Amino acid sequence: MPKPNPRHPGFPIPGGLDLRAKGWRQEALLRLLENVLSVGEDPDRLIVYAALGKAARNWPAHAKIVETLLSMDEDQTLIIQSGKPVGLLRTHAKAPLVIMANCNIVGQWAKAEVFYDLEKKGLICWGGLTAGAWQYIGSQGVIQGTYEIFMRIAERRFGGSLAGRFILTAGLGGMGGAQPLAGRMAGAAILVVDIDAERAEKRRAIGFLDVVASDLDAALRLIDEAVSEKRAISVGLVGNAADIYPKIEARGIVPDIVTDQTSAHDLVYGYVPKGMSLEEVRRLREEGPAQLMAASRASIADHVRAMLAFQKKGSEVFDNGNLIRTQAREGGVANAFDIPIFTEAYLRPLFCRAIGPFRWMALSGEESDIARIDDLVLELFPDNHIVTNWISLARQYVPFEGLPARIAWLGHGERTRLAVAVNDLVASGALKGPVAFSRDHLDAGAMAHPNIMTENMKDGSDAIADWPLINAMTLCASMADLVVIHSGGGGYAGYMTSAGVTIVADGTEAGAERLSHALTNDTSLGIIRYADAGYEAAVEAAEAGGVGYLPLGGTL
Ligand code: NAD
Repeated sequence: MPKPNPRHPGFPIPGGLDLRAKGWRQEALLRLLENVLSVGEDPDRLIVYAALGKAARNWPAHAKIVETLLSMDEDQTLIIQSGKPVGLLRTHAKAPLVIMANCNIVGQWAKAEVFYDLEKKGLICWGGLTAGAWQYIGSQGVIQGTYEIFMRIAERRFGGSLAGRFILTAGLGGMGGAQPLAGRMAGAAILVVDIDAERAEKRRAIGFLDVVASDLDAALRLIDEAVSEKRAISVGLVGNAADIYPKIEARGIVPDIVTDQTSAHDLVYGYVPKGMSLEEVRRLREEGPAQLMAASRASIADHVRAMLAFQKKGSEVFDNGNLIRTQAREGGVANAFDIPIFTEAYLRPLFCRAIGPFRWMALSGEESDIARIDDLVLELFPDNHIVTNWISLARQYVPFEGLPARIAWLGHGERTRLAVAVNDLVASGALKGPVAFSRDHLDAGAMAHPNIMTENMKDGSDAIADWPLINAMTLCASMADLVVIHSGGGGYAGYMTSAGVTIVADGTEAGAERLSHALTNDTSLGIIRYADAGYEAAVEAAEAGGVGYLPLGGTL
C-alpha cells in the first residue's frame, strides 16, 4: 500500500507488495518515478529540484509514461526523449525496459538561451542528474556527498576532525538544504545563508537546521560560541549570500571552510541577485529575463570575490558543483577558478578506483529492508572505514524520505557483491520486497563535465563526452533496466554529458545476471576512463580488478 505523504498529499509514497505492472522490473521503475515526485520540491509542476529539474516533460507525458509502464511486457523497451515517451519497441527480456535521453543539445547550440526557448516551446526538459532519471532519493544523497567532502577536508587540513571549525555556506534548497545536517554530522559549526525565509523554515522544521538566527550578529554569536566549545551546530540566516559573505569578510572573520550551494547555475529561475526582493525576481523572470541574468551575474561576481578573499586569508574554499565560478568568470572575475572544484580537490583518488555514490531503494517501502541491508554492508565490508562510518551515522541521523533508501560510496567489485547478495536476500524472503540499485551520474565513467567532474584531467581530456556515451551503451549491452544520457548540468546546456543507470534486484536468477553484468561493467569502465587518462591508481586498480582494460600506452 502507498503511504500518505504529509509534505505533498497528492503524491503518496509508493510501497507494498501488490504488483500493478506486469512484473517487478516495470513496477520498480514506476515506483521510482512516483518516488522522485513524492520527495520533490514542487511535484505539482513535476519539478524535483534545482529550479527546473523535472521528472517528466509535462502531465500528458507523465500519464503516458505511467500507462506504458503499467501495460508493457518484459521484452519491450520504452523510449523517452526529454521527459516525453515517444516509442515502445519490441526488444527482448534482457534489454533495458527504459531508455532515455534528456536535454541533449548539439554543441554549437547548447546555450542557456536556446534551452529556455526550447523549454518554453515544450520540446525539451532538463532532468538534472537524478530527477529526469527517477533516481532522486531526497536529501540523503546530498547529505552523504556533502558529509564525505567535509570529512575529506577534515582529513587533509584539520587532523581528521571538524570539531571547533566554522563552515560558511549558502543555499537551503532541494540539494543545498542537506548542508546544515551534513555539517553538523561532521561535528562543525555551520552557517547557511538563504534568501528565502520559507526555505530556511522548512529545513528548521525537519531538524536539519538547529536554529534560524534573527540577524548576522546573532548568527555569528551562535557560531562563535559553538566553535569555542567545539560543539556542532547548524545555524540558518535569511539573507543574500552576495551581501552576507562580504560582510563577514569585512569583519575580519575567516571561516575554516567556505562553499556555496545557491542555484547559481541558473541566472533566471534560480539565483537571486542582491538588492532584489523575491517578488521582484519573480516578476522579472517573466518580464525581463535578460536584465535578471545580468544582475545575477554581477551579484555572483561579488559573491565569488568574497570567497576568493576568504581563500587568500586561509579558508578552505571549494565549488560544490553549482557553476558559481563559471558564472563569476563570465561576470568579470578573472581568477574565479583559483577556487578548486570539489571533485578534483577531494574525490579523484576515489574515482580512480571507481568508488562513488551508490544507492539502493527498498521498493516495498519497508524501512526494515534498509536496516537489513545496512547490516549486510557492515558484514561484507568491515574494513571499509568510510562506508562503515557513514552507515552507522546515517542510521542515527538521516531521516528516510519517500521510499526508504540508502547511499554509500562503494567501488568496483563492492557494488556487484552487495547487489547480488541483496538479490539473494530478496530471493530467500529475508527482505520484504525487491530493491532497486542506481548510482549518481557523478561517477567515474559516467560524466564529462569540465567544470565539475573532469576539470584538470591529467591528460587534458576534460571536455571529451565520449566516455558517458560509451558508458550508456555499455550499460544497454549489459542488461541494465533503465539507461539514460543527460546533458546540461548546471546552466542547462553545454556544460556536461552524463549517463545514469538503474537495475532491479527482483530475487530472480536473471536479476542476479543483470546486476552482475551492469554493475561490474559500469565500474570497470570508470577505472578504464581514469587509467586511460594516465592516473597510476586507476592503472593499478585495473590490474588488480581484472576490468578488461586494453592499455595502449602513448597514443600519439
Ligand atoms: P534549489 O533551486 O532547490 O535551491 C537554491 C537555493 O538557493 C534556494 O533556496 C534559493 O532561495 C537560494 N538562493 C538563490 N540565490 C541566493 C542568494 N543570492 N543568496 C542566498 N540564497 C540564494 O537548488 P538545489 O537543488 O539546492 O541546488 C543548488 C545548486 O547545487 C544547483 O546549482 C545545483 O545544480 C547544484 N548541485 C550540485 C551538486 C553537486 O554536484 N555537488 C549536486 C546537486 C546540486
